[in-house]
Amino acid sequence: MKYLICGGAGYIGAHLCKWLARVGHEVTVLDNLSTGHRAAVRWGRLIEADIVDRAGLFRALEGVHADAVVHLCARSLVGESMAVPYDYYANNVAGTLNVLEWMRTRNVDKFLFSSTAAVFGHPQAELIDEGHPTLPINPYGRSKLMVERILQDAAQAHGLRSVALRYFNACGADEQGDIGESHEPETHLIPNVLRAALSGERVRIFGDDYPTPDGTCVRDYVHVNDLASAHELALKFMACNEGAHVFNLGNGCGFSVKQVLAAAEEVVGRAIAAEAMPRRPGDPPVLVAASRKAREVLGWSPAYTDMTRIIDTAWRWHRNPAY
Ligand code: UDP
Repeated sequence: MKYLICGGAGYIGAHLCKWLARVGHEVTVLDNLSTGHRAAVRWGRLIEADIVDRAGLFRALEGVHADAVVHLCARSLVGESMAVPYDYYANNVAGTLNVLEWMRTRNVDKFLFSSTAAVFGHPQAELIDEGHPTLPINPYGRSKLMVERILQDAAQAHGLRSVALRYFNACGADEQGDIGESHEPETHLIPNVLRAALSGERVRIFGDDYPTPDGTCVRDYVHVNDLASAHELALKFMACNEGAHVFNLGNGCGFSVKQVLAAAEEVVGRAIAAEAMPRRPGDPPVLVAASRKAREVLGWSPAYTDMTRIIDTAWRWHRNPAY
């Protein structure tokens, strides 16, 4: 199949391109390289364009054929979305509409969308399933939820087939070390812990007084290759299922910040200095997915369930990043 991967130069997008190319698909990447990396585009051609500029996008995509579009382009930092909400709605909602409009004019009828656990807001249950209320608490989560709703309307109006995959905490890296997580600034826990291991600086623990077993926040860490395998299954699912569908993607198993730190110490073979800081605004104590639906309907089975194995792949990358 031929897939257009919008945002294929980013962390999850690049892993997806490698995965899809390895199983025999042809990928074309569209990216504005605002946070993605040219060096991460190794499994298909790169088209540089910005989804917010509709005319420029349509020009850039002239002659491109796709059986489906995977859409990962997004501004995705919660804190930033509070400060510059217009940018988030322009890119994540209006930009996505431009991609959808291009698809409509070209009769491309399958759309795989990167959504997020941020659509849920404050969790009202230990395990978050697809039926959990969606009450996002920041513009980032709201922008993603808006697109989920647009996809329901698009199914109705245009017969668009779609799957929204709500990622929990994406982590880890390619086993061969070709690609990995490279954000500037880096805000995520595992890269920050590994950077601290390399620099000797202290990693900050945002809050150790949460109502959790060790006082630190619990999250559901899902390996980027497991996300890639879920995308491959979702693309197959759309080939034989109409309508707009959503799936939560997590391991279904929570790890606290301190547990992640301990696993990282085991992987790097030494102590990593840490200091407790005040809580980070907007962090719920526990966010863990119930990913039964993805397992049952898509046949997904995450391969990376062991935290030290996950961190081992990330450590290989952070010791020697290619970009
Ligand atoms: N966290 C932390 N120190 C860091 C980065 C993150 O203690 O340097 C905590 C953060 O407060 C949250 C968890 O680690 O409880 C996961 O945060 P991350 O930013 O990786 O992902 P998020 O859950 O915000 O998507």
